[in-house]
Amino acid sequence: MDAWKFYTSKELKPEGWLYRQLRIQADGLSGNLDKMWRDVRDSAWIGGPADGWERVPYWLDGFVPLAYLLNDADMTQRAKRYIDGILERQRPDGWICPGREEDIPSFDTWALQLMSKVLTVYYDCSSDERIPDALYRMMKNYYDRLASAEIRLFGWGKFRWFEAFVALRFLDERYGEDWIRDLGRILKEQGADYPSFEPRWHTPLNVWTLETHIVNLGMMLKAEALCRPLLGPDSRMDATVLQRSLEAFNGTPVGLFTGDECLAGLSPIQGSELCSVAEQMYSYEWLMAVTGDPVWAERLELLAFNALPGTISDDMWTHQYLQMSNQISCTKFPNKAVYRTNGGESGLFGLEPNYGCCTANFNQAWPKFALSAFLHDGTGRKILSAVPVPSGLHTDKADVTLQTDYPFRTSLVYTVRAKEDISLEVRVPSFVKRLSVDGKRVVKQESLTFAIPAGTERTIRIDYGIEPEFVNRPYDLKSVRYGSLVFSLPIPYQTRKLEYERDGVERKFPYCDYELIRDGDWAFAFSSMQLNVHEAPVDRIPFSSEHPPVRIEVGMRPIPWGMEDGYDTVCAKTPQSRMPIGPEAGMELVPYGCAKLRMTEIPLI
Ligand SMILES: [Zn+2]
Repeated sequence: MDAWKFYTSKELKPEGWLYRQLRIQADGLSGNLDKMWRDVRDSAWIGGPADGWERVPYWLDGFVPLAYLLNDADMTQRAKRYIDGILERQRPDGWICPGREEDIPSFDTWALQLMSKVLTVYYDCSSDERIPDALYRMMKNYYDRLASAEIRLFGWGKFRWFEAFVALRFLDERYGEDWIRDLGRILKEQGADYPSFEPRWHTPLNVWTLETHIVNLGMMLKAEALCRPLLGPDSRMDATVLQRSLEAFNGTPVGLFTGDECLAGLSPIQGSELCSVAEQMYSYEWLMAVTGDPVWAERLELLAFNALPGTISDDMWTHQYLQMSNQISCTKFPNKAVYRTNGGESGLFGLEPNYGCCTANFNQAWPKFALSAFLHDGTGRKILSAVPVPSGLHTDKADVTLQTDYPFRTSLVYTVRAKEDISLEVRVPSFVKRLSVDGKRVVKQESLTFAIPAGTERTIRIDYGIEPEFVNRPYDLKSVRYGSLVFSLPIPYQTRKLEYERDGVERKFPYCDYELIRDGDWAFAFSSMQLNVHEAPVDRIPFSSEHPPVRIEVGMRPIPWGMEDGYDTVCAKTPQSRMPIGPEAGMELVPYGCAKLRMTEIPLI
């Protein structure tokens, strides 16, 4: 039994800065990919000649909830055109993926697993009654082919077998037939056994493997929670244990695992792929809901407020394949890239730097995060404020709005209009030092619960007392945290625009590539423990590079850091020396998400 259940986009809507962020996304690449990117525009899923595998489902997985969260009629119509095209092409036997019958045994059914998730998401948003039957038939056909050994899991489908369980949970609740659990059992039996790979996560392998692929690993963390209602608990797959190992040997200050694109250790100059940001977030949303453990909500915030905006441009037209925590330039590597298994363009901001998976897959991150703001207990009378981002919740039990500029500010104002007796639970993050409700100090606790009787309205103001702090990092480095925000020293840069066409894919403004070339000093150490927070207005662009909504002032001194051997665009993994070579100056740190070139893991003199 899940601790909490998700609301749908009919009930939960973004407001304030979160609404603006989603609108920027809709006006950027996500909202236009079907107009200008061949693999979506001309996809085989809708009868065209281009990609008929993961790209359309990846894109729809974000575009659909984005369209419905924004009530954007044009976007919902465009989403429906794709769904119509996909459903029209479903065969009488239920098989839904493009391609010829004779090619099915060699078809990697990862795309089928992914599409089953997307159709479930589409049903949650649209209530389109064609979906349950289409899903039933496609998954029953998948079951028949697997059970008869006509096909087997291999490749990505073998490593992402649990992705089918979003749809299987839906079908199990609706139909409850034996084959649904049996399909779940077959998928797990034929699927990759992640706990057995754990010893390989301890040191970078320097080779590309599915077992250490960080997008697979980010997805995998939700597997046990997702499968539990159908297959029962499995302590070997406990996400707490697996996450702890990944973090201990490959963690970054913003909650990612390094992987460029397979696990790459603890160095601040190894990259993390954008797909892994989106997938890790989605896993933590499920873990938060299924287990009720608040630690997943804190990990989710860390990714959403840092790793996600830190690797996408302000206008959300371009993104990186890989982000680094100490990133002093985003340029092409003329020779061998510093990455372990990725190409030299992975750090650029662009349309599809290195590879186009993230182009299609990053779209889900903000919309699904917005759908995780409030959760409910199944009756709708017990409501959890899981992630305190500005939102409005409108159900037949209550109307709840949360006005806040969190995480840039520390006050939350809830207005609850109860139609039935309502209990509102507000999760209190572990980093909160002081807590007050309606202006009165209260004892710090894990959560606050408010009972609001039917027919009444109540406004509740909660203030978090938060202090900026240094967090220890590997190699005797430090990073700065202020609540869920990680702070970086921003590095000034010049932007070089790259417009060109390659392999029939056009890069032109606003979806061109950009190199960011550093234009200022970056080699500093903290020389003071004093951190002073300065608030600035929250801009139209919430994580604005030009107008960060909060800054932290700290004393720093220049040090001889040096470059990584063989590179002139990558700082050394650790500084050459911690002996200062100049006087202390007051410097300003900004949120990681606002600093596209940055130093995040820095020594203390
Ligand atoms: Zn990707």
